Amino acid sequence: MESSAFICECVEKKLGIETPSGRVGIWLDSPLIDLIHGTGYINRQFPAMHRQFYRYGIDIIKQPMLVYPTLHYQNGGIEINDRCETNIPGLYVAGEASGGLHGRNRLMGNSVLDYNVFGKRAGQYAVDYVKSVKLKSLSLEHINAYEKELKEAKIETDRISPMLLPLYTPEVVKNRQLTAHYEGTLR
Ligand SMILES: Cc1cc2nc3c(=O)[nH]c(=O)nc-3n(C[C@H](O)[C@H](O)[C@H](O)COP(=O)(O)OP(=O)(O)OC[C@H]3O[C@@H](n4cnc5c(N)ncnc54)[C@H](O)[C@@H]3O)c2cc1C
Repeated sequence: MESSAFICECVEKKLGIETPSGRVGIWLDSPLIDLIHGTGYINRQFPAMHRQFYRYGIDIIKQPMLVYPTLHYQNGGIEINDRCETNIPGLYVAGEASGGLHGRNRLMGNSVLDYNVFGKRAGQYAVDYVKSVKLKSLSLEHINAYEKELKEAKIETDRISPMLLPLYTPEVVKNRQLTAHYEGTLR
């Protein structure tokens, strides 16, 4: 409900506060937390968050934080078995990229458990797999096969090789001018 209210304020009512990147957020009244619960509460309960903001010159005990809802967890991904194998031989997956482990909703804190347990398993089984691989001589045959598949599927793209994961970097981050702006203001 809170996220929905934030989005409504920023997107529908257009009352959000604009950041240097052009994104908008709302002020979270963090100084109120110590006022209600007593001096030292923020430092005791949220020490990491306090440090995180302080690094950028923002003291959340004295100043509000500019916030906006973000994706917390991607529930669902590549199907794996208990050895973290996928249906592509040699491709092992663990953590948020895998799907099904948490059912329809992940319980609070279970992601750390997930990637510790399955990250270890994926690593161990990948090592076993690698030992059984017989290396062929180096070639670019996979690029030819990829191009052939694209042609057959009538897909036109300027991508030169297969890509399992898309690039997540938003346009705003790719913009070098903006990156320079951040480097100048935040360091
Ligand atoms: C604000 C926030 C708070 C959270 N708090 C908790 C919590 O308290 N407890 C909990 O259990 N979970 C929490 N989570 C969830 C948890 O942090 C994540 O689910 C977990 O970090 C996912 O780990 P991962 O290794 O699967 O993926 P990631 O940590 O996302 O790692 C994926 C990596 O792949 C890299 N990558 C992406 N694309 C490519 C590419 N094309 N080529 C090469 N590399 C690539 C990325 O840069 C990244 O380093 C939180 C998440 C958020 C956003």
